[in-house]
Amino acid sequence: MRSPILDYLDTLISETDHISSGEPADYIPELAAADPDKVAVALCTVNGTVYASGDADHQFSIQSMSKPFAYALAIEDQGLERVRDLIGVEPSGEAFNELSLDPETGKPRNPMINAGAIATHALIASEGQSRVERVLKFFGSLSGRTIEIDEAVASSELATGDRNLGLAYLLHSSGQLAGDPQESVTGYIRQCAASVTVSDLALMAATLANGGVQPRTGERLLCRESTRHLLSVMASCGMYDAAGDWLTGVGIPAKSGVAGGIIGVLPGQVGVAVFSPRLDGHGNSVRGVEMMQRLSEDLGLHLMEASRPARSALRETRIVSLEGRPATIYVLQGDLVLSSIEALVHELIQSPPTTDVVVFDMARVDEVLPVARRTSSEMAAKLLDEGHRIVIVDPESMVEDFTDSRGRGIERWSPERLESALA
Ligand code: GLN
Repeated sequence: MRSPILDYLDTLISETDHISSGEPADYIPELAAADPDKVAVALCTVNGTVYASGDADHQFSIQSMSKPFAYALAIEDQGLERVRDLIGVEPSGEAFNELSLDPETGKPRNPMINAGAIATHALIASEGQSRVERVLKFFGSLSGRTIEIDEAVASSELATGDRNLGLAYLLHSSGQLAGDPQESVTGYIRQCAASVTVSDLALMAATLANGGVQPRTGERLLCRESTRHLLSVMASCGMYDAAGDWLTGVGIPAKSGVAGGIIGVLPGQVGVAVFSPRLDGHGNSVRGVEMMQRLSEDLGLHLMEASRPARSALRETRIVSLEGRPATIYVLQGDLVLSSIEALVHELIQSPPTTDVVVFDMARVDEVLPVARRTSSEMAAKLLDEGHRIVIVDPESMVEDFTDSRGRGIERWSPERLESALA
């Protein structure tokens, strides 16, 4: 059975197909040659399940989405205080490659703009290897596979990297750069040329959503404090001079890259990643921003409303005798948000019910977000299609009625009826 979450991601791709405004970045010649019609989306929960749709295997350069991860690594290596001494955490309100430092402090305003990211790269400890090797290995642990550099993108940007070199010399002259300007820019540009897919990025983002622990391997890659600090900086500075619009509209810590990717993190729940190469004037993917807006709206991801206690929705599963016939009862509890409904759907797909009759007991459910309402109806329709009889105990009418493709519907029972049928 196919997950309704995958069906949703397919729809997201098809419904944004009409968006063709913007242009791929052209200041890095190799990026200008990208196929502008490639598109992909992926979502990874804090349980480590990845759902991806579109050109999910297409690799592109990580670009500025490398900045948050490199920043976290610099904090782990140097401590937050030393990093904060050299790099600010205020939104700049300027373009990502602005040739300026904060006039009052002489520091780059934040680590998400190029000035701050070059200073960040120079703070990463090399530990007997090149800094870039260290960063790549870190990306590898985050994404769970070997990450390599797209050499064509790296050399193309190195050949046109005057602006970043200018920034590095500016930092050096004001005592804010821990390393050599040339070396720092070369390392930073190579870091940006790391080649990834949306699934890699979703896992990397999910590690941040999971408080620094890689959800698949269970390895702690970042401490809680660095993760929290990093997510705060992404929330206020991640989308450059569009950061305010972004936080109010989409409402999750995010970071874009000029190859067309955007990652987003909903702490405690999911990491998401989208890709489409055409960019707006801020350097953010046009279709990517629209996809993120829809993901946030459809999946209930806005930080200011999604911060509910994330406890498992499935309290217990039992096989019982119901009016003399075997039935599987799923007892649900708490708030049904994206992460809890995903866990339930995952369970139903991995171990499908073996009885004809399937009961969902929702008497202990407090609230059902629209995403969970939709996903549960779709899941129930799939179970009906497979020939199951579905009983829902939903005293507060939190899920809608619906019928499957053959016109069969769910049955609604009261808690009392369930109790007497079980007796
Ligand atoms: N490597 C790019 C640069 O330094 C990254 C910029 C970005 O993705 N916004 O210009």
